[in-house]
Amino acid sequence: MRSLDFNVWSSSSILRYSHLEVNESDLYGSNSGKSLRSDVFGKTSQGGLCTVCNKSWTGCPGHWGHIRLASPVYHVGWMSYVLYWCRLTCNSCGRVQEKRGKRCMYCDAVMVHVVKSDAYALTMNKRPLEAKDVLDWFEKIPVEDVSGVTGHDAFHPKDLILTILPVPPNQVRPSPMLNDSEIHGEDDITRRLLLIVRVNKSLQRYNGTLTRYQRNKLEDAVNAYLDHTKIPSKKKYSKKASDQKSLAERLRHKKGRMRGNLMGKRVNHSARSVISGDAQIGMDEVGVPEKIANNMTVTETINAININHFQSLVDKRSETIKYVIEPPNKKVILSKCRGAISLDYGWQLERTLQDGDLVLFNRQPSLHKMSIMCHKVKVMPGSTFRLNLSCTTPYNADCK
Ligand SMILES: [Zn+2]
Ligand SMILES: [Zn+2]
Repeated sequence: MRSLDFNVWSSSSILRYSHLEVNESDLYGSNSGKSLRSDVFGKTSQGGLCTVCNKSWTGCPGHWGHIRLASPVYHVGWMSYVLYWCRLTCNSCGRVQEKRGKRCMYCDAVMVHVVKSDAYALTMNKRPLEAKDVLDWFEKIPVEDVSGVTGHDAFHPKDLILTILPVPPNQVRPSPMLNDSEIHGEDDITRRLLLIVRVNKSLQRYNGTLTRYQRNKLEDAVNAYLDHTKIPSKKKYSKKASDQKSLAERLRHKKGRMRGNLMGKRVNHSARSVISGDAQIGMDEVGVPEKIANNMTVTETINAININHFQSLVDKRSETIKYVIEPPNKKVILSKCRGAISLDYGWQLERTLQDGDLVLFNRQPSLHKMSIMCHKVKVMPGSTFRLNLSCTTPYNADCK
């Protein structure tokens, strides 16, 4: 894999992934098959198979649905991009302008003046610019003009205006469980989606001819789901509703998905402790507590040079050897193994850390390359890592 691209999910692509159009707000009634709690969204409880992929709850990845919005709405996170394309293109012919002038380079229409007036509100020549008007405008932008700006054709600005809202799988918003049976409580994401479904359903009968008040109501519900923190305070609902987490809040902050679940996890073959200075130790050494050294292992491959040494350690059941691995992958815990083991070339064994092993030593925040350096292990009593005082500078470890 060379690179990873993030892009706006287009309406047509959402529809391709979707298994259900949600248009019922009744979660558990007779129409629940078309609600946010439909079985189509994936299996999250034990018993039975998913109706879509025919897998049990451990195998079902969850499936997407969609809500067809009664009116196009702005996405609170994409307003700066909407503004960017409004200023780049002509309001009447949609062509991308190579330079900014008073009139369009292609159709000579007078260029309009668009500014942002609120978190998700724009004005055009000092009058409100609705999302549906922007959608009409952006639909006129030729695909070649867009790829001329972005360098690829995977994105079109019209997708910045929401017309279809994807509904995430059950796995993203599972019902709270009590003793393995679902209780009828709902995840915050489901609650916020439910509000959208309710508002949307009440507006659908107007067939797209909505008042500005009605459109704003839908827009507020959608954006409260996407990112509640960006909603202007006067539009916020009751305090109870503010306590519900929106999508963006799940990702952000220390306990969010990124920092809380994905980053900074401990890895195998590593240990962590306090550091302290030691004037006796060499600059290329690091003092490792016995407790850590006896717990961490180094993999050695048996060869002509070391076979006699390790065979004698294995024979006397030395505590320094933890595992013996016979190819291809038969792993034996030495302390629990009776009977003779005769090593052969190509076998591997895991021995505990000993003096002279090379290890990487890291002190966070690792701001430059000298924050991670290689040291020779020196096993020592105590329970802190010891380092020579001359090494404190590169690690930025201040000791007094
Ligand atoms: Zn499934
Ligand atoms: Zn024009």
